[in-house]
Amino acid sequence: MRAPLTRPLKPELLAPVGGWPQLRAAIESGADAVYFGLTDFSARARATNFTPEELPEVMKTLHARGVKGFVALNTLIFDDEISAVLDRVRAMSDAGVDAVIVQDAGIVRLMREVAPELPVHGSTQMTITSAEGCTWAAGLGIERVVLARELSIAEIKEIAGASPVEIEVFVHGALCVSYSGQCFSSEAWGGRSANRGQCAQACRLPYDMIVDGTLHDLGDAKYLLSPQDLMAVEQVPELIAAGVACFKIEGRLKGPEYVAATTAAYRRAIDLAMAGQSVRLSQSERHELEQVFSRGLTSGFLEGTQHQIVVAGRSPRHRGVRLGTVTGLEHGAVKVALQGPVKRGDGVVFDAARASEAELGGKVFEVFRERQSLTEEVSEGEVWLTFSNSTRLDGISVGDWVWRNRDEALDAEIRARFEHGIVRRETITASVTGAVGAPLSLTLRDEAGHTATAQSDFVCVAAANRPLDAAALRSALERLGDTPFTLGALEVSLAEPLFVPVSALNDLRRRAAEALLEQRVEVRREPVRELALSDLLSAVAAPAAIEAGAPELTLLARTPEQVTAAIAHPDIREIYLDFLEVRGLKESIAEVKAAGRRAVAVTPRVLKPNEERIHRFFLGLGADALLIRSLGMLQNLSTSDHAARGVELYGDFSLNATNHLTAELFLGMGLTRLAPTHDLNAEQLVALAEQVDPSRLELIVHHHLPIFHTEHCVFARFLSTGNSYRDCGRPCEHHAVHLAGRDGKQHRIHADIGCRNTVFNAQPQSGADRLGSFVEAGYRRFRIELVDDAPESVVPLIDRYLEVLRNETAPADAWRLLQRQLPQGITAGSLAVHKQSYTRKTPARTQ
Ligand code: SF4
Ligand code: SF4
Repeated sequence: MRAPLTRPLKPELLAPVGGWPQLRAAIESGADAVYFGLTDFSARARATNFTPEELPEVMKTLHARGVKGFVALNTLIFDDEISAVLDRVRAMSDAGVDAVIVQDAGIVRLMREVAPELPVHGSTQMTITSAEGCTWAAGLGIERVVLARELSIAEIKEIAGASPVEIEVFVHGALCVSYSGQCFSSEAWGGRSANRGQCAQACRLPYDMIVDGTLHDLGDAKYLLSPQDLMAVEQVPELIAAGVACFKIEGRLKGPEYVAATTAAYRRAIDLAMAGQSVRLSQSERHELEQVFSRGLTSGFLEGTQHQIVVAGRSPRHRGVRLGTVTGLEHGAVKVALQGPVKRGDGVVFDAARASEAELGGKVFEVFRERQSLTEEVSEGEVWLTFSNSTRLDGISVGDWVWRNRDEALDAEIRARFEHGIVRRETITASVTGAVGAPLSLTLRDEAGHTATAQSDFVCVAAANRPLDAAALRSALERLGDTPFTLGALEVSLAEPLFVPVSALNDLRRRAAEALLEQRVEVRREPVRELALSDLLSAVAAPAAIEAGAPELTLLARTPEQVTAAIAHPDIREIYLDFLEVRGLKESIAEVKAAGRRAVAVTPRVLKPNEERIHRFFLGLGADALLIRSLGMLQNLSTSDHAARGVELYGDFSLNATNHLTAELFLGMGLTRLAPTHDLNAEQLVALAEQVDPSRLELIVHHHLPIFHTEHCVFARFLSTGNSYRDCGRPCEHHAVHLAGRDGKQHRIHADIGCRNTVFNAQPQSGADRLGSFVEAGYRRFRIELVDDAPESVVPLIDRYLEVLRNETAPADAWRLLQRQLPQGITAGSLAVHKQSYTRKTPARTQ
């Protein structure tokens, strides 16, 4: 491992920007850097984003103000898009983009080839949760890693202390319930992909909880997977001490008021912390952050797992500030017992915690107390609220919660902070030299070290009276109102008493400031290597081909009983063991081997600090191979003595190999075999086999798509009062839990050995009808994955697929048989071919 970096003294504040108004808001509110997407390849496809043509103007605007610009190119990239991505990289490099935030590992490697001077940051979509993951990223040439949001401050500190790259963390905004980069719910239910910027927000939908087959009463909780939002203003000092290099605010879909308020809050917090002062939010500061957007603000996972807090479950939408509770209704007025501020003109919403009903609310027309109309904001006691005649109040009930979800006066106040010209100014220094018979010379220097010198057109003459002095010069030079500068130190070196007219000084100041701005926006970077795409691709070494054999079916079992059932089938020669707990794993591996089959132990999907040595445990299990599901585990195992121990390494879908560059990269790291990501449909999988030796790829042809993989434990949240495995009573060990969506389908939840929950799609997806085309494309290994399948169903399931692979059953017939054979039927799921290559604008199902 390389030595840890020397950390920058002051961390960067990185603001989200979805368009020009947000960009101006971020600049004036104190952002050190902003991030944004272009019209494609951005994880926020619904954001306005910028066009590639706008990029030079965006970067000039930012650099003129001393603000860095990072472009989010943070989606997985299909093979047929690589050429277009290269065009974007070229445009970014030419425009002087300060860093590109990338998810796709193959694209990182390609960028290092063509644009070595363009810094790359590893997106949170890479699901990096450990120092080992950071080391892997460093090896790829990544300069900064945006860590997953599911880490505590203590864990972040451990990672930052051992990481060879800079660490960036999210401090504010929406939380995904799933680890970013590991959510396949949009793939399962909408033919869309969160890894392609097309999240369908399935975690914001209501679910029922079925415990051991019975509907569980959850009180007012209906949105069991919808986390509240993150706010870490008061944790800023600790995060700085932990070694965080950059604080990131989520919210590229949010408006400029949100950007301004959140950026200003963290600017203040960082400045206070750097000055050694504590950071505490006043109630009004907290209200402002709640008001601009919040589903409820919590510290997320920063204080460790807080299962009772992260998901409240009452609503998935913006709430704002809690006003109080409805205590009465009369003649079109609503009586509210206040616990927060309200005034005329506020937007309010009545929250009845009923998932199936649209929420009621509107703009407050009048606020009354004891028949007196109140013109000022009030926040205590009981008041009557009236609304316009068009506002529906008939569904409101006593006991409903009331939120102020809109405060137009606050919005106007926030806009005034950035809409009326330059607010934020950078201090520059000036030095002036002059002598009789020579022009006056002015040099300006900014904080970043840019300098610009201008000479006056006027030639200095000896002063007859009132010679030019420092006070007169300062008076002329500090008129920098139309620039982003303010004058700091002024150094004057005049050889003798001089006369220079004020008009010449003004002209000199204007030209020097313009020259300094030009210096700041100039791009000093080698052009991108202009090689033919084929040359670029060959720069990434292809793996040696392995001779293809007959098609083979493998099976992933999640219980010892399923393992025993799979062994009973004579044609299953390799069995994956993905047990929820390590108890019994070694014994089952021994059982598999004693039966003359190969055993593959499946490693966890997330590797965190304090779990680093788990790879040694897996190496010692006696398995023939280990299935790797995270980049940290890949780093640990690929650099281990696995080969000397005779243990092969396989890579799983969660490494997100989407194109042949990424597949070759992972296969080149010592993996014998790799399962491509679930973001590829059946046709794309066939196309991938034309570019990568297909005998080294494995297709998962039957499984329940793992739609969410989450740090949030649903068992602990809703079946205990605990916040972690220490105090939850371990309900996961005693109960079978399903989540039922609005369509009634029941999705099984499993907890793994790290207490992370996986929600599996109710209906299994199958590629049975596509097996012929996969075999024709060269694929030789196909995997069936079980979840809670009964042991007696295992052999018949295996037979259906083997019959197709042996040409004993037509694929279409096998599909029909499976539909009848399995209780939930089957679906094509993520293999269905109905996706656009890239869809820029996709309507959201929920907000
Ligand atoms: S569905 Fe939810 S968890 Fe999944 S990517 Fe979208 S917001 Fe994140
Ligand atoms: S022990 Fe079980 S219920 Fe408790 S936090 Fe861990 S996974 Fe959840």
